[in-house]
Amino acid sequence: MSDYYELLGVSRDATADEIKKAYRKRARQLHPDVAGPGHEDEFKAVSVAYDVLSDADKRKMYDLGGEDALRGGPGGFPGGDFSDLGGMFQAFFGGGQGRGPISRARRGQDGMVAVPVTLADVAFGATKSVKVDTYVQCATCHGSCCAPGTSPVQCTGCNGQGQVQRVQRSFLGNIMTSVPCPECGGYGTKIVTPCRDCAGEGRNHVRRDIEINVPAGVSTGTRLRLSGQGEAGVGGGPAGDLYAIIQEEQHPSLERDGDDLYTELRVPMTAAALGANLSVETLDGDQEVTVRAGAQSGDDIRLEGLGVGRLRRKGRGDLHVVLTVETPTRLTDRQRELLEELAALRGEDGFVAVEEGLLDRIKNAGKGGKSRKRR
Ligand SMILES: [Zn+2]
Ligand SMILES: [Zn+2]
Repeated sequence: MSDYYELLGVSRDATADEIKKAYRKRARQLHPDVAGPGHEDEFKAVSVAYDVLSDADKRKMYDLGGEDALRGGPGGFPGGDFSDLGGMFQAFFGGGQGRGPISRARRGQDGMVAVPVTLADVAFGATKSVKVDTYVQCATCHGSCCAPGTSPVQCTGCNGQGQVQRVQRSFLGNIMTSVPCPECGGYGTKIVTPCRDCAGEGRNHVRRDIEINVPAGVSTGTRLRLSGQGEAGVGGGPAGDLYAIIQEEQHPSLERDGDDLYTELRVPMTAAALGANLSVETLDGDQEVTVRAGAQSGDDIRLEGLGVGRLRRKGRGDLHVVLTVETPTRLTDRQRELLEELAALRGEDGFVAVEEGLLDRIKNAGKGGKSRKRR
């Protein structure tokens, strides 16, 4: 733990003016021009001490409880991150020595594009082509920003250094600092004849087609990162990334739940009773499914491996064929006769309405809502 009064070389009852004078003296002694390199930490410590002792409130807290009191206190202890003094520190020690000119090249922005995909794309994976509004590197200057045959020339304002020395006045006296060269903007060079095709930016705005590899198993909202496919950077800088956002389209007869698919198969009452082989539409073409005799609405026939491909894993989900048994709504006389005969054989003739009357209408109205499919 350091004693701030000792650091500044003042007594504990020093006045504000004495403290200021003492700091000024110490800071000058520690300046690299006077003390040589390697005194950054000492300067920092002295500056923190000054920051505290020059502030009446902070000084009072420090007098009462030392550094610990400052740390816990509401005033906020600078703790080495002395904001006001940071600029001074920069001017003293870093301040740009050896920083050199900055590069024109900057990384391009990341892009984003929506990729509509069908259920088949999602099930099997696909390569999709999408249009993207983006920047590409200028084909004329290849990102150099200069007209063909020319190149940047050294800035005379800073001799190619990108920065110039400025004298800054401070209460410590005049301090030399480095600032970006106002003539070249810090690049150290100037472009005398900019490329006309890109107005000296090194890139052009275009609409281009991008091929996107969509793996099986993705779903709406899945983000695919295409490294280096985003906007080209200015001044020949590297391109950003492109993010492809998956958007699934609805399939007319197949519904997806994770890796599994569901479809409804409507089965005539007679086929459900007798059993039948029926055709069902799948992503792999029409498939024949066997409906067992006595099948019921809601029965789930599972076709293994006909679902959606699993994301970044082997195999596919299943296709569930869910049955809906259909009761005929219109009967010919002959059909009616046969059904009545069947009912009689099954001892169910007591339920059959003989006359179409009020009771039938109520019964028929009730049927509609009762046999709806469920999933
Ligand atoms: Zn160009
Ligand atoms: Zn310059």
